[in-house]
Amino acid sequence: MTETFELYAIKYGTHSRPQSQNFLNPPDPHDAPYPIDYYVWVCKSKSHTVVVDTGFDAEAAKARGRTMYRCPVDSLRLIGVDPGDVTDVVITHMHYDHGGNLDKFPKATFHIQDLEMSYVTGRYMRYPVLRNSFDPDDVCHLVRGLYKDRVEFHNGDDALFPGLTLHHVGGHTQGMQFVRAWTERGWVVLASDSMHLYANWRHKNPFPTVLHIGDMLEGHRKVARLAESPDHVVPGHDPLVMELYPPASEDLAGIVARVDLAPHGT
Ligand SMILES: [Zn+2]
Repeated sequence: MTETFELYAIKYGTHSRPQSQNFLNPPDPHDAPYPIDYYVWVCKSKSHTVVVDTGFDAEAAKARGRTMYRCPVDSLRLIGVDPGDVTDVVITHMHYDHGGNLDKFPKATFHIQDLEMSYVTGRYMRYPVLRNSFDPDDVCHLVRGLYKDRVEFHNGDDALFPGLTLHHVGGHTQGMQFVRAWTERGWVVLASDSMHLYANWRHKNPFPTVLHIGDMLEGHRKVARLAESPDHVVPGHDPLVMELYPPASEDLAGIVARVDLAPHGT
């Protein structure tokens, strides 16, 4: 039977940057500030709790000049999830801001696309422009997990549980995948870096960290097709998510948003 999920976006970091870092073709010649936020997500039904991405740690934040507000893994406790109990973690892709902290999930199986594992251990990692967003320690954690039966592979589109599906898109990385969950208001897509910002999609102007531009643009289309409506798409790095969606509770305003609920003004 299809399960109904509550969906939480947990903001754990931010980065002040000029707009030119967020678009392949920067639209504004003045290059105004355009910060991006960092999130992990949780899908909760009556019988399953699935964590989507695991964020970066303090060391990575320091090395890359990112602001980390809180440890993304500790932050799970804000919504009553003990990372020690989590059994399923979806890794949308292995970039440092999505696939760190794997050692903080002692019981979890990590769900990843076949193509992402081959990408992060394959020939393209010889090129700094493609490997810069990965941390080899994160990749090694994943490989060690593989040798302990802690990795589950998915090839293309797949169902994790009834009401929770995984979808390969490529583009940003070779094995990029996103999550779609059934909620009280229909199918919601947690796009992760299939769609960094609403504006990347709206203006068909992708984020510049990209392996294949065509696949990334097709990925935006796939995200839109599998969501109930444009208001059912949750991008991976957009600060607007915290403004548009209701907080999980009053004291978590600006920290945890309920993206299974309707955004304001719709
Ligand atoms: Zn990212």
